[in-house]
Amino acid sequence: KAKRQGRNTYQWYTDELNRKVAERVNLRHALQYAIEQSQFELHYQPQIHGPSSRVTGVEALIRWYHPERGNIPPGQFISLAEDTGQIMPISEWVLERACLDAVKLNANATTPVTMAVNISPMQFQRPGFLASIQQVLEKSGLAPELLELELTEGVLMDSTEHAIQTLKDLGSLGVHIALDDFGTGFSSLSYLKRLPINKLKIDRSFIRDVVNDSRDAAIVDGVVTMAAKLGLEVLIEGVETAEQYAYLNARHSTHFQGFYFARPMPLSAISTYLQESQHPHNDSEPHPT
Ligand code: C2E
Ligand code: MG
Ligand code: MG
Ligand code: MG
Repeated sequence: KAKRQGRNTYQWYTDELNRKVAERVNLRHALQYAIEQSQFELHYQPQIHGPSSRVTGVEALIRWYHPERGNIPPGQFISLAEDTGQIMPISEWVLERACLDAVKLNANATTPVTMAVNISPMQFQRPGFLASIQQVLEKSGLAPELLELELTEGVLMDSTEHAIQTLKDLGSLGVHIALDDFGTGFSSLSYLKRLPINKLKIDRSFIRDVVNDSRDAAIVDGVVTMAAKLGLEVLIEGVETAEQYAYLNARHSTHFQGFYFARPMPLSAISTYLQESQHPHNDSEPHPT
């Protein structure tokens, strides 16, 4: 009898669905350990203002180096962490690390560098969110204007009065709000009218074929035009090639981000990157004698 049960149990576990459940349980335990052991790191990807070619900001992107499994991308654990609530301690760590690093990056910068931080839906909707932002600004000493919160359309879709009030309060603090992955969600355009946001980040799915696909180009043109009339800034995500950048930069006075400029990199590397972008080596420049 016992043998049979064991066999049934075995079959139960080999079922594909249940294998996935087990994997999620494993990942959840690994994530718990990672939180306790601080296995996370932030990498930073530069954001470039097209017309001036200046680096005006960086986006903080979380990295998890698991001792045995190696690098586990955020796409594989952020949504799980959201389901389990583990996103809360992770998000708290991200915000603090990002703000402290932003202060460091701005200490030796000649132009201000904005720190863009991805905010999860649960994090945003929690009652203490506004207070946590005020706290981290105080603790780090970062100017509120240098903090930009990236929210996705999903967060704002079921936006209650509370969410709208939170956005207004953040705006009053001086903190900037960007709508991430714009165009991929299902939110109504009326949100753009109602919500106090500062920037649209056009999703990279519209950029991949923008040079050859006139429909993608039409969408990008339309969003940029609409945003300008609404007084919103625009950042075009996922620029991977010189051709894409030449094409887009000739048409739109926006911000850009993507592998063409740089991949996300550790703090020390982005620090060097910023210094070199602000003080480019130029041998044709006359040297003081
Ligand atoms: P996202 O906020 O839209 O971030 C941009 C993602 O696109 C990043 O992936 C970045 O590495 C990638 N990317 C940047 N330029 C290019 C490009 O030219 N081509 C392509 N193919 N990809 C590009 P990553 O780091 O894997 O992050 C994935 C997503 O995970 C993020 O999307 C964001 O939604 C989430 N995420 C990352 N870090 C955090 C975090 O600290 N907190 C929260 N809540 N979510 C985070
Ligand atoms: Mg983002
Ligand atoms: Mg995005
Ligand atoms: Mg995304």
